[in-house]
Amino acid sequence: MPDAPRPIPNAPRPARRVITDPATVEQRARDAARENVSFRAWLKFRCETSDPEVDALVRETTDQVWRHIDCIACAQCCRCLSITLDDRDIARLARRLHLSIKQFTRRYVEGTGDQRAFNQRPCPFLQSGACSVYSDRPQACRDFPYLHDPGFRHRMLGLLEFSLLCPVIYNTLELLKRRLPWRSRGGR
Ligand code: SF4
Ligand code: SF4
Repeated sequence: MPDAPRPIPNAPRPARRVITDPATVEQRARDAARENVSFRAWLKFRCETSDPEVDALVRETTDQVWRHIDCIACAQCCRCLSITLDDRDIARLARRLHLSIKQFTRRYVEGTGDQRAFNQRPCPFLQSGACSVYSDRPQACRDFPYLHDPGFRHRMLGLLEFSLLCPVIYNTLELLKRRLPWRSRGGR
């Protein structure tokens, strides 16, 4: 679960309604799959907007969408994703739970090296719909859904996949299709 801005009840709405229900998001994202593949190809190979301009628009659109989505109520990433872990994540969580690194690893971790992740889905620290280790959660939880990172147009393959589960990604993509000159260049 990322450090999302808390929803602002009276924040100005984007021109398009923000869809927050995870089941509806999944269905809409499946329906948009072909269109999104075509949008990705246009953005990656034919769009003349520079990388910094695209990234700035993505950040602005993400923030606008996020004001209408409550990550604590959603928690889809905590339910569905395999959360990767590094040494620092494991040490921090082990310390919080008063476990040795060995004990923590045996209880909660699968894989080795760069492939380490929580061994359960939903995440074992998702309790009553909330993160029980929030201030010590792994870096991967803080960074998801990676929409503020640079190089958006080069990372779209993974983001399209995540759009099935994450309302922030789904809605941001839908708005970007309208804010970039894709449709006027023959996109649908
Ligand atoms: S530690 Fe688990 S419950 Fe907490 S934010 Fe990460 S995935 Fe969600
Ligand atoms: S799936 Fe997306 S909207 Fe839901 S909690 Fe995670 S980041 Fe927030």
